[in-house]
Amino acid sequence: MIINHLIPWSKVKNWRCKMCGKCCFYSRIPLSFEDYATIVSKYGEVYVVQDQNLFVLKHKKNGSCVFLRMKEGKYTCKIQEDKPLVCKLFPFRVYLYPKFKDNSEFKYKNKSYYVYLDLSCSGIKLGAPSEELISKVLPEVIEIYERKLIFQKYSTSYLSHSNNLNFPNLKILYSAQGL
Ligand code: SF4
Ligand code: SF4
Repeated sequence: MIINHLIPWSKVKNWRCKMCGKCCFYSRIPLSFEDYATIVSKYGEVYVVQDQNLFVLKHKKNGSCVFLRMKEGKYTCKIQEDKPLVCKLFPFRVYLYPKFKDNSEFKYKNKSYYVYLDLSCSGIKLGAPSEELISKVLPEVIEIYERKLIFQKYSTSYLSHSNNLNFPNLKILYSAQGL
C-alpha cells in the first residue's frame, strides 16, 4: 500500500470502508512469515511471489491483487480472515512510539500505542473523534495489530462480514474473544 500521508487518529472523526478497492490495486503487499505460511498452506504458492528479499501477493493483469473481487458493485477481499496483517490494518498504522510530534497516542489496556491513518484511503472523515472510533474501531485495530483477534467487525467493510460463505458466527466469535 502506498503511504501518502499519515494523520493521527485524534484528527479523525470516523472511518468506514467504502469498498472502492483503491488500496488493493498496484500495491506491493509484503507478507510476514505468518501471512506467508497461512496463504501458502491454505491457498497455494501460486498466489505469492518473491520481490527482492520479501514475499508479496501476486497481481492480476489489471493491477489488482489476486484476491480482490467485485461483488454487488463493491470490491471485497476473497480471503477476508486470512488476509495479510497490513491489509487487515489498512488504513490504520500502529506504532509503539510516536512517529511525529503529534497527538497520536491511544491508550488501550494500560499500554500506549501511536495510531495514524493513511489519507490515501477514501473512507476517512476528519473531525473530532467519534465514540465509535474510540470505543470500537481503535480497540479492534489494536487487537488485530497485536494478533489477538483474527475476525474483524468494526475495522473492515460491512460486506466482508456477509461475503465469506465459511464465515463463522461473529457474535459467538466476539464473545469467545471477550469483545
Ligand atoms: S480501506 Fe479505504 S481505500 Fe481501501 S477499499 Fe476501503 S475505503 Fe477504499
Ligand atoms: S489480500 Fe485482500 S485486502 Fe489485501 S490487497 Fe489483496 S484483495 Fe486487498
